[in-house]
Amino acid sequence: MARPDELTFAPLGGVGEIGMNLSIYGLGNQHQRAWLAIDLGVSFGDEEHLPGIDLIMPDIGFLEKERKNLVGLVLTHAHEDHFGAIIDLWPKLKCPIYATKFSAALFEAKCEAEPGAPKIPVTVVPSGGRVDIGPFNVEFIPVAHSIPESHALAIHTEIGTVLHTGDWKIDPTPVIGVPTDERRLRELGDAGLLALIGDSTNAVRDGRSPSEAEVAKTIAELVKAARGRVAVTTFASNVARLRAVAEAAKLADREVVVVGRAMERVVQVARETGYLNGVQNFRGADLYGHFPPDKVLALCTGSQGEPRAALARIANDDHPLVTLRDMIAWTRPQLLIPVHGEALHLNEHARLARSVGVPKVLICRNGDLVRLGPGEPGIIDKLPSGRLYKDGTILEDAKSRAVVERRRMGFAGCVFVAIAMTEKGELAEDPEVDLVGIPEKNMAGEELDDIVFDTVVSTVENLPRARRRDADAIAESVRRAVRGTLNEHWGKKPLCLVHVLEV
Ligand SMILES: [Zn+2]
Repeated sequence: MARPDELTFAPLGGVGEIGMNLSIYGLGNQHQRAWLAIDLGVSFGDEEHLPGIDLIMPDIGFLEKERKNLVGLVLTHAHEDHFGAIIDLWPKLKCPIYATKFSAALFEAKCEAEPGAPKIPVTVVPSGGRVDIGPFNVEFIPVAHSIPESHALAIHTEIGTVLHTGDWKIDPTPVIGVPTDERRLRELGDAGLLALIGDSTNAVRDGRSPSEAEVAKTIAELVKAARGRVAVTTFASNVARLRAVAEAAKLADREVVVVGRAMERVVQVARETGYLNGVQNFRGADLYGHFPPDKVLALCTGSQGEPRAALARIANDDHPLVTLRDMIAWTRPQLLIPVHGEALHLNEHARLARSVGVPKVLICRNGDLVRLGPGEPGIIDKLPSGRLYKDGTILEDAKSRAVVERRRMGFAGCVFVAIAMTEKGELAEDPEVDLVGIPEKNMAGEELDDIVFDTVVSTVENLPRARRRDADAIAESVRRAVRGTLNEHWGKKPLCLVHVLEV
């Protein structure tokens, strides 16, 4: 018999790692649940461990299978680690998307800039507004963050209300937008909050971040004191920072020149959505050289490009020194689940929550299905989860061979051997040997390709005659011998591909 309805939560990305956020909430019983997804972000590959991988995304295989029960995807804000995977993954889900105006406009601009991006409709919800999505009623509560229109989501259901914090900081004087809506968060606490699913990237620190107003004052002083050309690198999506820089340029009597496509895009969206109202017009990058050095200020995203740079910042110092303590004190949840961050963050967050008297703290991993209520919360199931790699234009399972082989080739190169055998099992001619990414000579000054060539010939000739008629046996013996020889002369075993032809 089916159990009565319960409210569940599962992170499918972003827990125990930085980036690629994806959470789902389920309402129903073990036989059927309606699912609501929150955020769909990316992380970035690093060249050393994942050569050639641009983006890493959560594996959405589970949601694909549950597609007919997926009622919608809600975006907390428009940082890459929260919305960067939508263009690639939405075609597999085709669910309705909900976001506020700025996030929706930035997403649309991103789609337009991406060749071949599908048409993806987004339903705009006002900041502070509520929307019914299947059996969930979702409320967008403004929180201060380094991008306009960042939200915590209050997810109201018949079982109770859950607060999904997203990324946030407590900034009483944001330059743009409204401060974190403390009043509304307290009201949720008064009404009784079933669970707080919280951003824990800040839990390892104490105190509050410098406010945007303080940052703006410092920028203005620095620009005013500068003599020659001034270039300011910042994250394009930090519109509050753009505004502060524009203000500083005006005070110093300098023109602002916008450099880089990511920066141009955000400036355009911010103007359209009113976040740069009252700010002077900026100039195109082509005009940079036309102004005297002390009359211009270049605004750029830095050399690594916006998404990667933005994520580095998210991982490092962007997340301000908040007191999470505040969020917990306002909302007084029955249950706290720290998410979004690595193990250290999660544990620190859990420790903090226990110390301020949250009745129950639960640490979970990607794929854990957690019952939030009714009754005793706990992990009740394990859902499939994992990672996808964006490799060029192809989305690949993270377990695929391609990256492993590339890493091996990067470390130890590759040897190609071609061998032609007669019907009788004799070498028809000299084998072909090619070494790629391998030093020319060993420490004794001997040519490595000569050594490999000799190894190939002697290995073939020393095989018993019967084995010399078996192409697979020849290839395997040669492969082992070549790797062994190179290990002896070089200390590394490269990838080795052997082709045997009968002529
Ligand atoms: Zn963020």
